[in-house]
Amino acid sequence: MPHKMKTHQGLNLLNKKSKSAVKGREVRSTNRWKRVSQSVRDKYPMCQWPDGCSEIAESVHHIVSIEDAPALAFAESNLIPLCEQHHKWCNEMERGGVSTKFKFLDWINKQENRYEDYFDEHP
Ligand SMILES: [Zn+2]
Repeated sequence: MPHKMKTHQGLNLLNKKSKSAVKGREVRSTNRWKRVSQSVRDKYPMCQWPDGCSEIAESVHHIVSIEDAPALAFAESNLIPLCEQHHKWCNEMERGGVSTKFKFLDWINKQENRYEDYFDEHP
């Protein structure tokens, strides 16, 4: 058989049909997310808030939101470990329609595989 059989297990994030329907909580409930999120916090256990913060990073924030860029939901270069307080601040800003990306430009530039490169490779 020339084509691989499709399986129904898991959430295929790159599947065109489901792409627009992907929501943050769906991503965050996957084992893949748990792995990626843990791996980011293993590397950076502390909150990486650009103004400085001495709290433990309890969550991992999507710099470009999952809704805006589902393809970057698991891209480490699009993730930054934050404490609860700073993650909450970001989420509140974004709920109000304000992008918080400007806060993380230094962090983005520090990443090896920047998500801008990702878009070049996956137009
Ligand atoms: Zn913090």
